[in-house]
Amino acid sequence: MVIIVSSSSSSSPAAGPEESQSAAVTLTVTVRGEEKRRERLSLSLSPVGLGPRSSQEKETEIRSAQERVGPGGGSDQNERTQRRRGIQRSGPKRPQIKQEFEEGGRSARQEMASMEGLIGLMNRIQRACTALGDHGGEGADLPTLWESLPTIAVVGGQSSGKSSVLESIVGRDFLPRGSGIVTRRPLVLQLHQIDKGAHEYADFLHLPKTRFSDFALVRQEIADETDRVTGKTKQISPVPIHLSIYSPNVVNLTLIDLPGLTKVAVEGQPESVVHDIENMVRSYVEKPNCIILAISPANQDIATSDAIKLSKEVDPSGERTFGVLTKLDLMDKGTNALDVLEGRAYRLQFPWVGIVNRSQADINRKVDMIAAREKEREYFENSPDYAHLSSRMGSVYLAKLLSQHLEAVIKARIPSITSLINKTIDELESELDTIGKAVAADPGAQLYTILELCRAFDRVFKEHLDGGRSGGDKIYGVFDHKLPAAFRKLPFDRYLSVQNVKKVVSEADGYQPHLIAPEQGYRRLVEAGLAYFKGPAEATVDAVHVVLRDLVRKSIGETEPLRRFPTLQAAIATAANEALERFREDGRSTALRLVDMEAYLTVEFFRKLPQDPDSGSKVGNPNESNGSGSGSVTVDRYGDGHYRNIASNVSQYIKMVGDQLLHKIPKAVVHCQVREAKRSLLNHFYVHIGKKEASQFGHLLDEDPAMLERRQQCWKRLELYKSARDEIDSVAWTR
Ligand code: GDP
Ligand code: MG
Repeated sequence: MVIIVSSSSSSSPAAGPEESQSAAVTLTVTVRGEEKRRERLSLSLSPVGLGPRSSQEKETEIRSAQERVGPGGGSDQNERTQRRRGIQRSGPKRPQIKQEFEEGGRSARQEMASMEGLIGLMNRIQRACTALGDHGGEGADLPTLWESLPTIAVVGGQSSGKSSVLESIVGRDFLPRGSGIVTRRPLVLQLHQIDKGAHEYADFLHLPKTRFSDFALVRQEIADETDRVTGKTKQISPVPIHLSIYSPNVVNLTLIDLPGLTKVAVEGQPESVVHDIENMVRSYVEKPNCIILAISPANQDIATSDAIKLSKEVDPSGERTFGVLTKLDLMDKGTNALDVLEGRAYRLQFPWVGIVNRSQADINRKVDMIAAREKEREYFENSPDYAHLSSRMGSVYLAKLLSQHLEAVIKARIPSITSLINKTIDELESELDTIGKAVAADPGAQLYTILELCRAFDRVFKEHLDGGRSGGDKIYGVFDHKLPAAFRKLPFDRYLSVQNVKKVVSEADGYQPHLIAPEQGYRRLVEAGLAYFKGPAEATVDAVHVVLRDLVRKSIGETEPLRRFPTLQAAIATAANEALERFREDGRSTALRLVDMEAYLTVEFFRKLPQDPDSGSKVGNPNESNGSGSGSVTVDRYGDGHYRNIASNVSQYIKMVGDQLLHKIPKAVVHCQVREAKRSLLNHFYVHIGKKEASQFGHLLDEDPAMLERRQQCWKRLELYKSARDEIDSVAWTR
């Protein structure tokens, strides 16, 4: 006879919160295909943790989790109900434990309709995390989803019985055994309950196409995969191995097996391994979302238990620690663990669960796991010490308790996980916006991008000159302050001293003393005098050049979309600086020419020269003097007054030219340098690009490797968060 239990939830997928809190499930019990009985069970789906919970609520939750699992793991009650109602089994009697798993597990599965969804959901998100490189911890600048997922971590000292407990929960031998530190990477063990009769198998996330039905091969693969990452060096690694086991003999549950805490490194392992293990284990258990399965052997003093020591440290109130006591059968005769199991010693929020695993002798004799479970059940039922606790002891009970608790925790965490996911998606998207899209592969699009980036740079550069951005004003500082100040400092006083004027004029006259105004003398004096302006003119050109260069550098930095392209940045900088160099040449020659041009003295200049006051006659026409004799006029002409006069005339002229140059030099500089920079800074570059091979565009768009990496990382994380959001949306009805 086959008993099929099917269910249909009366709460609609869109049920409001009140409805879903207590969804009624109709159990249809079909015996030999004939429907015998319908019964409505009230399923308590209390919204655990959906809001702030009082400690009383928490206690109720803890108690109700235990009650739901109930004596014999929650299946006995169904079984008893069925027996009471006269539904009898026929056929060979199977070991009771096995039946519990097949039938009780099945009905538990119906009860836990939402649990499958929730634990399955977390499993899928966890797998996505590992596949996309999120194991928490490392890559601290990336948001981690892994760390916000509720997990159960198995913690204990070496040989405390961790592997045995896990294998017992799974009902299979599948973990590597041996001396020393066997578990060297976290093993994320995801248990999926499948229909009875369906083929039991396992698979690994890193081998998606391989189904393992031989569990000896699973063990081998765990060992091999551990070595693949850690090498044979016996180092440890935080990158988890994901193993999924699909079996009718499991409840839906996810556990993380961690390396055993140890005090000494074994041969071949660095001393640091002791700390490394503790740090890794701590990194798991210190997260508030981690449920700690703390394994301690009963044949050792609990005060020395590594698991309890660590859990007390990270969870002092014991609200997320499940204490498990193994090796009860190995306690000294006459002693027992009732103080702990009955909650008088080492009390945690959840009562301790006692376990009796296979002994080493059992393992050597290859005692079947299912038989071992049966033996464990018998041990508790027949133990004079523990019989009264037998319904709350053993690995079957532990598995169900954990499964229920995990579900409650997941349910409580989903709202905050959802909001975390949404917030992180926004953050990642905005970061990706800043980083920019990946570069197109086709040359046309690449050229377009290059030109766009040049234009963007050009815009920023122009804003500096036209206002809107600072820096352009420095050019006016050059014109308004530096240039006039430089002019003022020119040594015209010294230059136009009587001595010097005399010298220059005499030299210009040569052997022919000048008869009228010393035209050559004036010309030389003016020409050499004006030469003094050349220094400040060139300095102005250079100063503006420096300002423009600075602005190019600044603008490149400020052109946001250009940031990721260091090669193009350098190319633009080179092209712009070359252009500025050309403009400077032009500016310099124009400014110098302006100065040179003023050296030509027109006839007008001489005509308008004031009379020589010392000679008492017009300088321009000494022969028309008052007839006192040309000798005296000639003498006067070589007197100091005469030269002072010349100096004064030259000085006036130079001053006038200087005043004009104060306006004209800036005009020349603006015309040749600033205006050109605005108009045609990158013109040569555009021509140059136009001549390039299409294949070279890609090179110009080479990205900063750090940026490239960051974009990839952000994309991957975004993908993870989005798929997690989709996963959660797909089971939203369970909320
Ligand atoms: P781990 O290092 O924490 O994974 O410990 P194991 O699960 O490998 O167990 C270490 C040894 O203790 C093995 O030889 C087990 O057979 C034995 N062992 C574990 N639990 C029990 C138990 O409850 N009773 C007995 N008799 N032996 C146990
Ligand atoms: Mg082990």
